[in-house]
Amino acid sequence: VKEHGKGHYTFFDQAMGSRIDHHLNMETGLRRALEQHEFRVAYQPQVDVVSGRVTGMEALIRWQHPETGEVSPREFIPVAEQTGLILPIGEWLLRSACEELLRWPDGNEGLRLAVNLSPLQVHQRDFVDRVRAICDETGFPLRRLDLEITENLLMRDVESVVEKLRTLSRLGVTITIDDFGTGYSSLGYLQRLPIHALKIDQSFVHAIRENEEKGTLVETIIAMAHGLGLNVVAEGVETKRQLDYLRRLQCGRMQGFYFSYPLSGHEAVDLLEGWARE
Ligand code: C2E
Ligand code: CA
Ligand code: CA
Ligand code: CA
Repeated sequence: VKEHGKGHYTFFDQAMGSRIDHHLNMETGLRRALEQHEFRVAYQPQVDVVSGRVTGMEALIRWQHPETGEVSPREFIPVAEQTGLILPIGEWLLRSACEELLRWPDGNEGLRLAVNLSPLQVHQRDFVDRVRAICDETGFPLRRLDLEITENLLMRDVESVVEKLRTLSRLGVTITIDDFGTGYSSLGYLQRLPIHALKIDQSFVHAIRENEEKGTLVETIIAMAHGLGLNVVAEGVETKRQLDYLRRLQCGRMQGFYFSYPLSGHEAVDLLEGWARE
């Protein structure tokens, strides 16, 4: 930098320096968080609006930082992905959620567990074996597992990804495309992949409130999913109006603050018991 002349890159260096600092602090923090057990799992119910039952729970990671309090996954997951720490973090989450669900009271054996996967996890050579091992070791049935992947996963090694998902699918695992409609936008893969459901991104669901016109995007996605024989899950449902609109379009499964915020394990059990009594 020096040879480019005095002071030329000072501003750039400072801005970049502080970004690197932030990144390094975050990386150190994440390593410590794993060792010191600062992560928790939150569960958000998925509701079948036809039967009115909770059919699954999405596991969402939470980080309680000892100094700064809760850090959003939107902030730390990208750093975890860039540093590869998402691999041990992702395994921790899957294992913890499997163990926890098995401890929930009788009557919840049909409840499915949805887990978010980063592309890096799926691209691991032994990804399938790792998932199987965790289910074997915890005793969590593979057929209760729903893996949420994003369209970005398909940006490389598609053949090997398809093969891995097929293997898992044969073992009873279901695959859902998360944030559908926001990513890599070739629809060609939809027929090649062993997917079971599309999860409509919340931005489309929220658009229902702001502008009934834009809601037609939701309509198109649902019609397409049904045409392909896929289930549809709507996420980010916050209002009765969104619920009614989605119900009219035959969207069967929903998730969002209208039904429940993400909950601690204890709260989730309470909700399930209250829900069952109704
Ligand atoms: P996502 O997978 O799309 O998860 C949905 C996010 O929307 C969650 O945010 C959830 O709390 C929030 N949400 C749920 N219902 C509503 C609603 O009605 N309205 C609004 N406005 N928001 C709602 P969260 O927990 O902060 O997670 C953010 C993102 O971080 C997730 O988006 C996911 O991409 C990532 N993430 C979270 N946990 C994990 C994990 O264990 N592994 C990986 N790889 N990523 C994770
Ligand atoms: Ca998700
Ligand atoms: Ca999502
Ligand atoms: Ca999202």
